[in-house]
Amino acid sequence: MRVLFVEDEPRLREALCRGLSEEGHEAVGAGTGTEGLQLALHQSFDVIVCDILLPGVNGFQLVRRLREQAVWTPVLMLSAKDGEWDEAEALDAGADGYITKPFSYVVLKAHLRALARRGSKGATVGSEVLRSGDLILDLRARRCARGGTEVELSQREFSILAELLAHRGEAVAKDELMRKVWGPGFAGDPNIVEVYIGYLRKKVDVPFGRHSIETVRGYGYRLTVQDEALHG
Ligand code: CA
Repeated sequence: MRVLFVEDEPRLREALCRGLSEEGHEAVGAGTGTEGLQLALHQSFDVIVCDILLPGVNGFQLVRRLREQAVWTPVLMLSAKDGEWDEAEALDAGADGYITKPFSYVVLKAHLRALARRGSKGATVGSEVLRSGDLILDLRARRCARGGTEVELSQREFSILAELLAHRGEAVAKDELMRKVWGPGFAGDPNIVEVYIGYLRKKVDVPFGRHSIETVRGYGYRLTVQDEALHG
């Protein structure tokens, strides 16, 4: 399980990260809401644990921004017992669970396990969203975003990118793209695929300083997954 802890109390954050690491999980800590949001948008986690009162972006804003960007990673909110926030507000903001500080480590882990299970189920149901790093394609809403910036694509560009994203890291044959996007009966110039790949690069790569769509010489194209790392 890969967990992101967004918590500004260093002792609590470090203790939780250490506890999970010792059990063979991967735990990443963030001390501000802004840092947490960047990590959550650019890397993938099974669960995010997020304090409400944080420097920078607060916990409610963080979860709202994630949902706006079609990031559906389950979020467990932490709140101080005498805090002015309540569970309903956390859930309204888009969180999936809520626990009050101080909590026991055993209870926290039970919540994490439950959310991680729900998350993986949700990923199958919600497979209408394809993503690679900060590149997101929402198939149902027909929307594309890179690093939180909306990118307008034509129908064909959208379909090509969906194919590449669905097979990210793998080479997709030019013929296959042509068949799937233009239809099996298409009798036009096969170079049309290259033309559209050029359009796509100008929209999802060039303005963001990326080179995610690679040409596989004599075969087709590959969407690289190297941009999983944090940018900016
Ligand atoms: Ca706090």
